[in-house]
Amino acid sequence: MTRRASRLARLTAAAVIGLGATLPNLAHAFGLIRDAEIERTLADMSAPVFSAAGLSPATIDIYIINDPSLNAFVAGGRNVFLHTGLLVQLGTPEELIGVIAHETGHIAGGHLTRRMINLRNAQGPALIGLLLGIAAAAAAGSGDAGAAIAAGSQSLITRNLLRFNRGEEAAADQAALDYMARARVNPEGMLKVLERFRGQEVLSVGNLDPYTLTHPLSTQRMQLIEREVAESKGRSYPSDPERDYWHGRMRAKLEGFLSNPQRVLDKYENAEETEQVLYAKAVAYHRLPDQAKALAAMDRLLALRPNDPFYLELKGQLLFEQAHPEEAVSYYRKAVAAAPDEPLLKAGLGRVLIALNTKATDAEALKVLESARRDDPGDPSMLRDLAIAYSRAGNDGMAALVTAERFALNGDRKDAALHARRASTILPQGSPGWLRAQDIVALADEKD
Ligand SMILES: [Zn+2]
Repeated sequence: MTRRASRLARLTAAAVIGLGATLPNLAHAFGLIRDAEIERTLADMSAPVFSAAGLSPATIDIYIINDPSLNAFVAGGRNVFLHTGLLVQLGTPEELIGVIAHETGHIAGGHLTRRMINLRNAQGPALIGLLLGIAAAAAAGSGDAGAAIAAGSQSLITRNLLRFNRGEEAAADQAALDYMARARVNPEGMLKVLERFRGQEVLSVGNLDPYTLTHPLSTQRMQLIEREVAESKGRSYPSDPERDYWHGRMRAKLEGFLSNPQRVLDKYENAEETEQVLYAKAVAYHRLPDQAKALAAMDRLLALRPNDPFYLELKGQLLFEQAHPEEAVSYYRKAVAAAPDEPLLKAGLGRVLIALNTKATDAEALKVLESARRDDPGDPSMLRDLAIAYSRAGNDGMAALVTAERFALNGDRKDAALHARRASTILPQGSPGWLRAQDIVALADEKD
């Protein structure tokens, strides 16, 4: 995750200077899901495709949007947005990789850049509105995004930014098949995905999967892919058991967290209890809530994989949310030790340490949260905890600075400026923190 983390660091640095701020912000507004395990699974799955496209995986970010509809899109340069609906509903990693490869084809083909050039003149709030419009348009069809759409901008966005033309779709398909071949991924996955959308041309807009709005399907397009896949030697590529395993875990975890918990338990009542089924049930029990059964299920998972950082994290989270921070902290410590490159795990440990509220745990929290911020400064809840840790340590200047950063991330310029000004009066002039505070003040005072 350091790859992604360093990318996020740059994104956030850009955020405080300008445009980049809108990305984590808009994703947050549309229910961005942050989860160390799922982010790592998606990064591992995508990396071979990005590399095959000649793009460094470190330069592309994947964002997970909590939306049950099927959609994927690219925006703001090299950012791939995936709906949870897609992550849960696609049954094999090859299908998901097919979608990611196609989006990568749009990035590598420069299809998005051409559109963005026309938007260069749009600055500040106008640009934020446009980017929000992208997310809104992407979420359209799920019903709950309508309110957030800037009036008048949606049709512009869907027409000019998100919706690719036939030539671009064909180019992205060709590129995707090429990347999949080079990454040795069976291309039948891509065909399977498109077959899901087959026949949607005849549906009215409200019944369409948003994906078919942004990536128009045509009989011609389908036939071309069918022919290519039929002739591809990649059809003999076997599935990858390790990839299947993590893909299954991702689906189980999302199902547990996003579906009605009783429905999840009913669904698996008579099912064979695989590790993935047990995972979905553990989360569902937690949300029911039936804490004893949730903990028992986590213990069984940990018996299977005692050093799994994400099982350790979830057990810690369950205990913490059941108001047992002393027990939770040891699981979070083990999780961080098992995956020291995961800033989200460190942020979780920091949160529990802050809750323990002793001199020793406060000192440990400060250390671990500072480390989390270095790797992933775009995590607002970590910044909130870090401000508390600084404040308890008597470092009011840094507390004000990270609070300003948190407001900046959420697009709240007024409060960002307020706290950044306060930080500048306390921090030593010319120090890195003071300079950063100056940047935030300058950004916030920019004329729209
Ligand atoms: Zn497309």
